[in-house]
Amino acid sequence: MKQRIDAQLAMIGHAGAKWDMDWSSVYSARALTLPDYVHGRVLFTGDAAHMLPIFGVRGANTAFQDAQSLAWHLAFVLKGPGRAGAAGQPQRRARGRGARDH
Ligand SMILES: Cc1cc2nc3c(=O)[nH]c(=O)nc-3n(C[C@H](O)[C@H](O)[C@H](O)COP(=O)(O)OP(=O)(O)OC[C@H]3O[C@@H](n4cnc5c(N)ncnc54)[C@H](O)[C@@H]3O)c2cc1C
Repeated sequence: MKQRIDAQLAMIGHAGAKWDMDWSSVYSARALTLPDYVHGRVLFTGDAAHMLPIFGVRGANTAFQDAQSLAWHLAFVLKGPGRAGAAGQPQRRARGRGARDH
């Protein structure tokens, strides 16, 4: 692994840079989504609702989309007519599935 990291550093212009390994792990690319993001009073968002491979840089982006969507849906439920159970689930699930299947 040291050779590979040194090769990467050299490739980006940092040949011979000193470094120590703090932590390493095996990354498994997975595309998963919960069938339902709302379980009673518990709302699942981000990686807890849908996990996407890091290739394509969508995980954090969809997590932000979840938060943004939930914010106005919850405000709508609290301040206006709406069903608390919906909480933006159809749109968020469609986005999660779309990103997973992309
Ligand atoms: C190597 C790598 C590169 C990535 N690059 C990108 C990228 O370029 N662009 C992009 O959009 N996405 C990227 N992602 C994906 C992105 O990091 C995740 O999709 C995003 O962080 C998910 O946010 P989240 O808030 O749902 O979950 P997390 O960021 O995992 O946050 C969950 C938090 O909950 C805490 N927690 C867990 N259990 C408990 C508990 N019992 N009590 C209290 N706290 C708890 C955890 O410590 C953590 O801080 C990358 C992921 C990886 C691994």
